[in-house]
Amino acid sequence: MASPASDEMSLAELASESTVLFDEDGRVRYWNPAAERLFGWPALSVEGVQVTRLAASSRQEASAWAALLQEGFWRGVLKRRSRDGHVVEVQARRLVRFEDSGELRDVVEFAAPTSGHRPTSIDPIDAPDQMMAASWEIDVAPCESILADIEGERAGDPDGRHAALYQEIVEKALIVRVNKRTARLVGGNRTREIMAGQRVAAFWPLASRSALGELIVEALRSEAGRSVFRGLPTDGILRDPVVTAWRADSERPTHVFISVEGVADDDRSYLYLKASEARYRKLIHYMPVALLQVDASHMGKIYAGLRAQGVVDFDGYLQEHPELIDLAGRSVPVTDVNRRAVELLGGQGPHDLIRPVGHLFAISPATLRRVMVGRFSGRTSHSEFMKVRALDGRVLDVRFSVTYPEPLTELDTTIFSLEDMTDRVRMEAQLRQLQADYSHAARVSMLGELTSSIAHEVNQPLAAIMTNAETSLRWLARDVPDVTKVTQLTARIAASARRADEIVQRIRGMASKRAPETVSLTLNEIVQQSLLFVKHEIETRSIRVATSCARNLPRVMGDRVQLQQVVVNLLINAAQAMEGVDEAERLLTIETMADAEGSSVLTLRDRGPGIPAEHLSRIFDGFFTTKDEGMGIGLAICRSIVAAHGGTISAANVSAGGAEFRVELPAAEVAPRWT
Ligand code: ADP
Repeated sequence: MASPASDEMSLAELASESTVLFDEDGRVRYWNPAAERLFGWPALSVEGVQVTRLAASSRQEASAWAALLQEGFWRGVLKRRSRDGHVVEVQARRLVRFEDSGELRDVVEFAAPTSGHRPTSIDPIDAPDQMMAASWEIDVAPCESILADIEGERAGDPDGRHAALYQEIVEKALIVRVNKRTARLVGGNRTREIMAGQRVAAFWPLASRSALGELIVEALRSEAGRSVFRGLPTDGILRDPVVTAWRADSERPTHVFISVEGVADDDRSYLYLKASEARYRKLIHYMPVALLQVDASHMGKIYAGLRAQGVVDFDGYLQEHPELIDLAGRSVPVTDVNRRAVELLGGQGPHDLIRPVGHLFAISPATLRRVMVGRFSGRTSHSEFMKVRALDGRVLDVRFSVTYPEPLTELDTTIFSLEDMTDRVRMEAQLRQLQADYSHAARVSMLGELTSSIAHEVNQPLAAIMTNAETSLRWLARDVPDVTKVTQLTARIAASARRADEIVQRIRGMASKRAPETVSLTLNEIVQQSLLFVKHEIETRSIRVATSCARNLPRVMGDRVQLQQVVVNLLINAAQAMEGVDEAERLLTIETMADAEGSSVLTLRDRGPGIPAEHLSRIFDGFFTTKDEGMGIGLAICRSIVAAHGGTISAANVSAGGAEFRVELPAAEVAPRWT
């Protein structure tokens, strides 16, 4: 529910009579649009101003005020200074209002001109918004050096340089305050509070920035109380607007007031416009994605300058000039944010986020660089995952997207959107862990199938150690110990011990639970190492192995143990598939080669029964098995490992009989995605 006071105000906005509220000391508290029109002063330039300072004769005003406070009511003719320096004579009524407690609440003044009032062409009832001028209070303090430049060349402007300098004034000057109409006309979805502190140029149409800058310079040159004005061409916002500018009082020497009058250049009715704006604002505001609007217009100019200098490789340029990235972080401001952005980044309100963009990229500086490169190269958007530190210190995983402004548009606005991916990233990490556990379990189970092979393999060097040790003892027990023989045998013992150690290490590598480790390797190495695991298995089953390893195979990036796991799995399956086959027929063909795209390809062919056609599409599914003791996870794990390496695995039947498995791994420069 609106408070009675604000109801009163909104009614007074519509009144055609000048309506002003003063506090007890005679300072303006409220000034309606009709008062703006009658006296020419926009509300924001007179709020807080003492009534006597507005009067043509302060003495006369002081006595009228004293009479009012005594009587509680006053009626008479007032002479008040108007903005254009004239004196307006008005018929005024003033009334003191009291609180229930008996204290003075405020003074209401109604006024109408006594004579010479120009009737307005706009009916206030039909177009309440248009009665009000769009007014601005701006601060030109940041333009000090440009103003000095202009003053330095006051005698003339031989190179036409001033137009650019005038424009620069508008680009540097900051908004102190604007009234509601300004926010409605040019604020987009921004409120007056958010516009305050931002650069005038972020809201002023490009075509008339130079004209406004010139008017500001004129206003600053004029004496106090004098205003300067000029008509501007229709700009898509207002039809034939008239802009007036004047200096603020001596307490605010760098402040200038600007007032823009004109009818909105839009045939839609005021209410329609307001409703559609409100809808748009709501839509943006309540969008579930965090949106930040940034003004990177001056960086756009720097880029244009660099392009003109012939810079093409902007990424390379930024490597050499990292200070440009710092500059963007420090100087590109966020100009507006929606509710979700405040929620996500943990601010108290939009104001916490209306600041340079640097903090968004504090822990992901490379993203800012890529955002800049995207803009420089004329892309329309860019998107990537990044980490961002919220204002309260939380580190979030987000999908960051930027939409660049269309070239040559009036308002140079860039939109950042941030989508919280923290939960998803956490879930993905959990999934990765689960997959790692699963593939570890599969490895352990695979080793289980190889226990007899492992025992045999370890036994071999142990048996050799034993025999050599016993022989050494015998040589030592002789009357004349043969030191040469013993030395030889001891060397063999050491070699066998080393061999046993290697076997144990290899098996431990397979059995241990560890994070994947990406190294550069070739498929040939993997095949050789995998064969060691199944050597005994293959020998006891009398399987012949034919290997054909391509020389100069491209290197791939991958985890050695996981790739061994794939090949060992395929080897065991092939050996098992040939169990029922005649011993003479048992042949395993292993081939490696590079394909036309530079991928490494491994094919593994057996002479088993092959895979029934109806099973072909299912053998890589988890828990699909046709074996009594089988778990059906081997091939599923193989597929996920190969996929994580960016490769593919497939199975087919060979026409001569038997199955063929094909593993293809790209010659990767990049590390695999462990998903
Ligand atoms: P498991 O070996 O525990 O059954 P896998 O996932 O390794 O699990 O294999 C799944 C199924 O694929 C096997 O049960 C078998 O039916 C089929 N298969 C795998 N390799 C071969 C092969 N070389 N020849 C014929 N069938 C095979």
